Amino acid sequence: MKPETACVHAIRNTAHSTGAVAVPIYQSATFSHPAFGQSTGYDYTRATNPTREHVEKLLAALEGGADALAFSSGMAAIATLMELFAPGDEIVAAEDLYGGSIRLFEHVSRKNGLIVRYVDTSDLAAVRAAMGERTKAVFTESPTNPMMKVSDIAGIRKLIGSKKVLLIMDNTFLTPYFCNPIALGADVVIHSGTKYLAGHNDTLAGFIVLKSAEIAEKLRFLQKTIGGVLSPFDAFLVTRGIKTLAIRMEKSQENAIKVARWLLKQPKVTAVHYVGLPDHPAFALSQRQARGFGSMISFSVDNVETVSTLLNRTKLILFAESLGGVETLITYPITQTHADVPEEERLARGINEKLLRLSVGIEAAEDIIEDLEGAMK
Ligand SMILES: *Cc1c(COP(=O)(O)O)cnc(C)c1O
Repeated sequence: MKPETACVHAIRNTAHSTGAVAVPIYQSATFSHPAFGQSTGYDYTRATNPTREHVEKLLAALEGGADALAFSSGMAAIATLMELFAPGDEIVAAEDLYGGSIRLFEHVSRKNGLIVRYVDTSDLAAVRAAMGERTKAVFTESPTNPMMKVSDIAGIRKLIGSKKVLLIMDNTFLTPYFCNPIALGADVVIHSGTKYLAGHNDTLAGFIVLKSAEIAEKLRFLQKTIGGVLSPFDAFLVTRGIKTLAIRMEKSQENAIKVARWLLKQPKVTAVHYVGLPDHPAFALSQRQARGFGSMISFSVDNVETVSTLLNRTKLILFAESLGGVETLITYPITQTHADVPEEERLARGINEKLLRLSVGIEAAEDIIEDLEGAMK
């Protein structure tokens, strides 16, 4: 089954006698038992719920994992995943990770005794140098946010070799439609389902997909114990969103290529970071490990005045955090997504006051460009 077919048909609603094509929303906190010693397989929604189970099976199928778990947000998923580790364990993480992941590591995981070492995971030698006796995981994201660096997933797998080190990939930007990290050697795939999977800027969701059923079982225990589970209604919305994932990913990517090419020609734009441009340093690597480049662009402008006119004057494009929805959004990483990253670190990574980020949506490319053009004049 091709990925676009899988998005629609990988998991069918069969547990239902009416023939309903859409998965029903089992809006029930608890489930009654037919008789003493008997069970329907469901007892309490924090542990299992049929609507959540449906979207979990769908994610496992799309990513090629043994199992998947759905959480109330991407951060709830990542925070639960961190509970696999013990005080003294070390994690090698991409320095350019999603700001919320860094905030979690620095303010929660560190307090719990985890040591996180940040490196440029697109540099295999740097990953190798950072790994030590106590390293239990390599945590990366690709392309990274907002600098669009790409890590060689199979290359990191090779470095890890037979060591007991989990390779964790946050696949939010590419989604299973464009990239399947497990096939490339990842053990754990993370998603903020809030973004492309749900796809309409209306739902928070998070997923952990596991290559191994054994680790999945440990996480099931943590999921029901900690309780940051995806609600039945939101599970339904994500399932519905995924049905159109393929066409949304294709259309927003098509738009992103046009917008990136247009940005390149603007006198006020000093740099464009988009993986789908042939002169992006990881263009070839991306083609090897993914079926697409996605639709996230970051770019630098000449000065802060241009930043403020752009943010104030775009009409179609919304000035908002988040990404991956049908609406094109413009973000100012320094005060929005990366406000909690220490200034020195931020600047070292190129996240300065002249950097903007676009999540390109599914509108007509001409309208997106016209809006940018009008705002930049
Ligand atoms: C948004 C995001 C998260 C966090 O997900 P939430 O659903 O907002 O909690 C994690 N990783 C990446 C790459 C993201 O973009």
